[in-house]
Formats: sequence, C-alpha cells, structure tokens
Amino acid sequence: MAISPSLDKLTDDQTEALDDASLLVISARRDAAAVLRRAGLEWDDDDDFFGSRCRKCPCREFDGNGRVCGRSSCRHSASQHAS
Ligand SMILES: [Zn+2]
Ligand SMILES: [Zn+2]
Repeated sequence: MAISPSLDKLTDDQTEALDDASLLVISARRDAAAVLRRAGLEWDDDDDFFGSRCRKCPCREFDGNGRVCGRSSCRHSASQHAS
C-alpha cells in the first residue's frame, strides 16, 4: 500500500484516519475468515490472505479493537497490520 505523503509525515488526524481505516480492513478479514471456518474451510497458516500480519514484527494477527495491537510482543499500530 503506497500512501502519500509518506507515513512519517502524517498529521495526527491523518494517522487516526489511517488506523481507523485499518481497523475496518482487519475486522472485515476477521469476518471473512469466520465465514470460511464455519463452512469447514481451512487454509495454510503461511497464506496470510485472510490474516492481519504485522509488518514490523512476527505477530500473525492483530489483537483487539484498539488502534494498537494488544499482543505484548507487538504493540504496533493497526495500520501496520492492515497491508
Ligand atoms: Zn500485532
Ligand atoms: Zn507488530
């Protein structure tokens, strides 16, 4: 995902918007994964098509519904998990 202006120059409002948008993506992926699991479908853990992997650490799935991942080893923002 390419966002302009570059991520380290965002205003606070833009950062909030990015994290809010990221949470929508993450929750949509969770819903999609739940639909497939209910249908008895499983997929390879290495295939993160329906996951929300962190771009900054090995965290495999965004934890919680806040702007920051709840996993103590991660704590990266939702936007890092939405790509
Ligand atoms: Zn995480
Ligand atoms: Zn992380």
